Amino acid sequence: MKSTKEFTKNILCKQYELDRKVIDFVEQKERLILDYFLEIDNIKEYNQYKVLNAMQKSRLSSTDFNWTTGYGYGDIGRDKVEEIYAKVFNTEDALVRPSIASGTHAITLTLSGILRPNDELISITGAPYDTLQKVIGVKGDLSGTLIEYGITYKEVPLVDNLINIDEVIKNISQNTKMLMIQRSTGYSDRRALTVEEIQEAISQIKEYNSDIIVMVDNCYGEFLDYLEPTDVGADIMAGSLIKNPGGGVALSGGYIVGKSNLVELIANRLTAPGLGKDCGLTFGTTRSTLQGLFLAPHVVSEAVKGALLVAIVYKELGFEIVPNLKDKRSDIIQAIKFNTPERVVEFCKGIQSASAVDSYIIPEAWEMPGYEDKVIMAAGGFIDGSSIELSADGPMREPYFAYYQGGLTYEHCKLGVLKSLDNLIRGGLIHKNKLNIEKFKAE
Ligand SMILES: *Cc1c(COP(=O)(O)O)cnc(C)c1O
Repeated sequence: MKSTKEFTKNILCKQYELDRKVIDFVEQKERLILDYFLEIDNIKEYNQYKVLNAMQKSRLSSTDFNWTTGYGYGDIGRDKVEEIYAKVFNTEDALVRPSIASGTHAITLTLSGILRPNDELISITGAPYDTLQKVIGVKGDLSGTLIEYGITYKEVPLVDNLINIDEVIKNISQNTKMLMIQRSTGYSDRRALTVEEIQEAISQIKEYNSDIIVMVDNCYGEFLDYLEPTDVGADIMAGSLIKNPGGGVALSGGYIVGKSNLVELIANRLTAPGLGKDCGLTFGTTRSTLQGLFLAPHVVSEAVKGALLVAIVYKELGFEIVPNLKDKRSDIIQAIKFNTPERVVEFCKGIQSASAVDSYIIPEAWEMPGYEDKVIMAAGGFIDGSSIELSADGPMREPYFAYYQGGLTYEHCKLGVLKSLDNLIRGGLIHKNKLNIEKFKAE
């Protein structure tokens, strides 16, 4: 009898027109990562219980999916979503709204809600994510930026991928109000900071000065570990609902969780001083926001497994990867250093062609709002621009990294890996003889 594996290989060869050597290569490498899946599953299980517990303790009810109109006073579903987020992230309060347009918007609200003229902000993980450099005012037009509003800004670079705590403490002055930590890689060449590393930095800094507000950009980091930065001392934290915590289901939005006095300041910036959290419609999004949160631990685990597959395949082909296989993962990103723009482009085209939506579209690098360099994005998601769904992107600049992330199911990630590699080989950008399979000693 035909082995059941043959059905799968047949559909991959015949319907997807993949080279059999590519399939064999990827499947051989896949066997090398299976040991890592156990711990990923343990983290998934824990986070699933954490999320469910928050929903049950908040007495989530079917009527919470109703919504109101106008000002949105008494929108109980909105309040319930925020109560659940606060429980999941172990904070006093939360702001979770579809009207927060993106992760950048959530972080911007956090910064501009808390900081006042003459306050100092220090980014203690080096240069922040591209879009935030424009928000702060260190790149692009100064108009409307934090710097234009009289906020001063400094950066303390990482050393050996760790927060340089001594240097941070040296840089803290009387005016220093807030320190900003970016957990994830962003468009850089470093791995994500682990929650333990963030904890170590926060505890030493707070020992030196307990009044400093520590803010964490948690984009792409949710549910990668048992604890979140807010479990280990972060005062305020922000992220995007079309990344991890939206589970691929949330339609749009951002979240901010943290100390209640800080959330109040931010809510006054989101709406207006005096209005705060009490108004703002949810437009019927509470169901998808919460169903996405419910699915998020599972979806994140699938995406992390996919990232591992990308990592092993391209590492074995000789490319530098960040994070490395043995590194503890603290975000869903897998960066591959492709060294040439052509490879980044063909990799992204392969990922796009594996999408469920817009699979026939060929992505091109373009001037995206908020970014200095052209960026290519493979993003064929059910939710536009959602990067918890299978996606890849890269700014068109040296040393030409592609950043792979997401995938709602591991199988979809695997198809993305197969299509991307097949595409690079067809384009002559990776030599086919690299696929020669070495015989396993064990076999
Ligand atoms: C994605 C991301 C953001 C925010 O990006 P949006 O596209 O605006 O949601 C901020 N910081 C990091 C590290 C990110 O990965």
